Amino acid sequence: MRCPLCDGRLNHIQVRNIGDVTASILWQMHTGECPIHGWFQAEFVGKPPREVFPVDRPAGNARKVLIDGREIFSFPTVWNSVDVKDARQKVDPLDPRYWQIDWKQIGVSARNGRR
Ligand SMILES: [Zn+2]
Repeated sequence: MRCPLCDGRLNHIQVRNIGDVTASILWQMHTGECPIHGWFQAEFVGKPPREVFPVDRPAGNARKVLIDGREIFSFPTVWNSVDVKDARQKVDPLDPRYWQIDWKQIGVSARNGRR
């Protein structure tokens, strides 16, 4: 996972297995901290996460991020936009391509978020 705002590498990355590790479906929570933009968290079950959430600390409360005066509580990923047919395909939930933020869905420019 990278910072949704600056695409920078996150520090203090924690990967927590939530489901049974012997199960065939990967169920994990990923948390990491951008030195500039704070903590972010994503949970997924078998498929890439649909959203990345800004949080106040690992496993903490959601927080809002202000971009262009808009309050953003979650960042939809590219995976969230994949149509249903593709969603049934077997994909690697850890494939970083699907973890990218879909700024079109948010309706603000990524550049404005990267200040
Ligand atoms: Zn950042």
